[in-house]
Amino acid sequence: MVRIDKQLSSDEVIVAKTNGVDTDRIEILIRDLLTAIGEDPTREGLVDTPKRIAKFWAEFIDYEPGNFNTTFSSMEVDQLVVVDGLEGWSLCEHHLMPFSFTAHVGYITGEKVVGLSKIPRIVHMHASKLQIQEKLTHQIAKTVEDITKARGVAVLIEGQHSCMQMRGIKTNGRMVTSCLRGVMLANPAAKQEFLSIIKLGD
Ligand code: ZN
Repeated sequence: MVRIDKQLSSDEVIVAKTNGVDTDRIEILIRDLLTAIGEDPTREGLVDTPKRIAKFWAEFIDYEPGNFNTTFSSMEVDQLVVVDGLEGWSLCEHHLMPFSFTAHVGYITGEKVVGLSKIPRIVHMHASKLQIQEKLTHQIAKTVEDITKARGVAVLIEGQHSCMQMRGIKTNGRMVTSCLRGVMLANPAAKQEFLSIIKLGD
């Protein structure tokens, strides 16, 4: 097993494994793709491209989030905890093109709280596969709820999709998705408090 340490942010060292993706097969397929678009896969600029792309897929798909479910007893229930401005990348499953996003995550404490660095791990774990933004938003909310047994969870994601910028309509646009669960859904004041804290992009 090959392990690659990828620096994600100052305090988050992410370890990716390359034992789940068939990199040899990807190299063959990329050489075929280059031929299919009229390129010469043996020319200087392209000769190592299949290897680079195979390495990318291994890093992306075999993302190892590390320990993300360490929890502590909550000092106080009904406290709002927000981790916002979490930036990341995922791949749109419809076009295999990247989308960048900023995720804002909040929960209303029940019995447990989760360490601050665990929320970004949960976000990146769900982003490291073929995704659509709506599903990513839901999966993050569900995992935070499962781990913390929170009384309410809110996840809001702002995404920029290159499949919209580079193809089709060829324009920029911010896509916003949200998932509210428990108290965050039932209590407008809780939702409003979350929305007033997070910093949304322009
Ligand atoms: Zn797409």
